Amino acid sequence: MENNNFKFEDEEKSSSKNKIILGIFVVVVLILAVLLFLHKSPKMNDAFNSEDAINRINPVKDPKITYFNYGGEEKPNMAKFGMVRRGGTRPHQGVDIFAKPGTDVFAVLDGKIVDLYADKNGYGLNLYLEVNPNDLEKLKRSDYKPKESFGEKLFGTNYNFMAKPKYIRYAHMSKVFVKLGDTVKAGQVIGKTGVTGNANKARDPHLHFEVAFEMRGKGLMNRVCPLMYFKIKTEDEMTKQDIQVQREASKVEWTENKGYEIGYRTQSVFAAEDEKLRLEEEAKKKKLKEATKIPEKTSKKVVKK
Ligand SMILES: [Zn+2]
Repeated sequence: MENNNFKFEDEEKSSSKNKIILGIFVVVVLILAVLLFLHKSPKMNDAFNSEDAINRINPVKDPKITYFNYGGEEKPNMAKFGMVRRGGTRPHQGVDIFAKPGTDVFAVLDGKIVDLYADKNGYGLNLYLEVNPNDLEKLKRSDYKPKESFGEKLFGTNYNFMAKPKYIRYAHMSKVFVKLGDTVKAGQVIGKTGVTGNANKARDPHLHFEVAFEMRGKGLMNRVCPLMYFKIKTEDEMTKQDIQVQREASKVEWTENKGYEIGYRTQSVFAAEDEKLRLEEEAKKKKLKEATKIPEKTSKKVVKK
């Protein structure tokens, strides 16, 4: 019995020892967790404030915005996303990346070609690549600061945090090497740059590049600033040599190659749907006009009285 008692005391001792060891273990784990958090958070802040280390595939090699505009004036801000045209009264839905016609154009992520057509008056030979929105989100940079005083913006007018950008548009191309419905791999050459559509006769040959969360939409609607995702050098990041290359190019009026549109659709896959919406909108406006006409007449009558 006595022996048993001793045994019992020993067991009690060892169980309280275990509790102490467990306690120390928990404290050590907590300290390690706090240390890890403190160690990681400054690093995260660094990523927000400085150049991040994400390896992106760019739409063209070593991309830079156009330093000159269509007419050859020094207007780098006009190349950016926002209300950057005509003194802040007109939108630019993407970013213009300087590229002499014939420059390779790359798929920036894995995806599918969901629209492709030759728009003679606007986008020229252009396509939409649909990507996984999560892949695009991973490329997001938090260190890009728009020049708001020049009308530059980060988000389209109807943007909200639920919007998931997943459409990449490439425009004014001279050639494309893919078909509607094709799936492509990140880094695949999908075409060549050009000056087709309203970029014809430009002194700033470029790839017009958009990031959108819906394929259609007027002005800045449904689009976001591509510079939030891709490191495209702006005027502040370009060297004198970079600018000199563009200055030389601006001495030429670049013309589109004839027949570039042959063999392509002339309208978006959404053309019929768009036309239906346009007609509906027109009918709505007409109705509204008629509805507002009646009080106008009565008010005139009141004045006469
Ligand atoms: Zn553009």
